[in-house]
Amino acid sequence: MTGSSIWHPFTQHGLEEPIPLVERAEGAALYTIDGRRIIDAISSWWVTTHGHCHPRIMAAIRAQAEKLDQLIFAGWTHEPAEEVAAGLRAIMPPSLTRVFFSDSGSTAVEVALKMALGFFANRGEERRRIVVMEHSYHGDTIGAMSVGARGVFNAAYAPLLFDVGRVSFPGLDPQATLDALEAECAAGAAVFIVEPLVLGAGGMLMYPPAVLAEMREICAAHGTLFIADEVMTGWGRTGTLLACEQAGVVPDILCLSKGLTGGAVPLAVTMASEAIWRAHYSHDRTKTFFHSSSYTANPIACAAAAANLAIWREEPVLGRVASLGARLEGRLSRLAGHPATSNYRRCGAIAALELGSAEGTYLNQIGPRLLARFREANLLLRPLGNTVYVMPPYCIDDSDLDTIYAAISDAADWVTTGA
Ligand SMILES: *Cc1c(COP(=O)(O)O)cnc(C)c1O
Repeated sequence: MTGSSIWHPFTQHGLEEPIPLVERAEGAALYTIDGRRIIDAISSWWVTTHGHCHPRIMAAIRAQAEKLDQLIFAGWTHEPAEEVAAGLRAIMPPSLTRVFFSDSGSTAVEVALKMALGFFANRGEERRRIVVMEHSYHGDTIGAMSVGARGVFNAAYAPLLFDVGRVSFPGLDPQATLDALEAECAAGAAVFIVEPLVLGAGGMLMYPPAVLAEMREICAAHGTLFIADEVMTGWGRTGTLLACEQAGVVPDILCLSKGLTGGAVPLAVTMASEAIWRAHYSHDRTKTFFHSSSYTANPIACAAAAANLAIWREEPVLGRVASLGARLEGRLSRLAGHPATSNYRRCGAIAALELGSAEGTYLNQIGPRLLARFREANLLLRPLGNTVYVMPPYCIDDSDLDTIYAAISDAADWVTTGA
């Protein structure tokens, strides 16, 4: 809309792309002010799990808003936060005994890194090196950027970023990844942070559970802390509540956000093992975990998360994910043989493929043209370069999936013929 003074995230306003104005949402659909129904094929950037404006979550927000809006969380507590912590303890791995709240995936990662370094510092150990995986994305704050892939997104901010060790993505040569990790851990790396099974913003790159399990074992053998960033992969996206489960892996520190409130309002948690908590537990105030933000564990956000946890307890969410995975596979795998596509892959309710030439950089010219085509087809699909992926809310129906399939199929034809 012209006349707006809003500076949008990850948006090049100079290209004068239209900015649709959305008025309301329900299930897998967004409704614009000019009366269009848009299928949300990427869960509004990977957050919406059950569907937009889920009645149980909306009711919880409404009820909480009548009672307690906000509370300092340093030294104070409230029922919704206690309920979320207890609910997480009941469904997350038992060894993750402590729950630290924050407000986004990026801050959950910052907290995880600080906990890991605080663990060694408080024990008087000189371990500081952080190891990451190539092509990873962990958020856009300074620490989260530092542990993520370097490139066009952060080149200008390089002076702000700290150095980390990097292991390769375990694509064609997983042994090289494992060997590099082994060398880093043997040399005393403090912590390894990784996105389990699927590297999201890096291009929906997928690797097998067995590699994740081996990486975890290598870290454990050397006392290197293992952080699982499940900000995107958590809450069923990969077919299990956590992606780590598929590898039988339990991390030392777990980052959750996006689907924590069902995708309704911002909230994040970093869960930590008892050993990490113990390293900070002391009569000595210098060993305090020094981190907070104003809205830590906001009661309204926690009420939404508590409602999400109740949905997970009481409804067959993983059955819905399995059904969605199968229905995605039934459609999108048909494009695997199309001459314009390559590398079709799927993990749970995430399906991805590359369109056109293999120059898979984010600034690939095909990306904006695909985006425009999908927008014209009333679809929210936002390719990562020439990687087209589908990650819908779990409630999406067959007819919407057919529309998504048809649009991607048309795009593949367009790439082939240039028409
Ligand atoms: C989205 C994402 C983040 C950052 O979360 P924000 O809420 O956008 O700060 C971190 N890690 C992963 C794996 C993500 O996908």
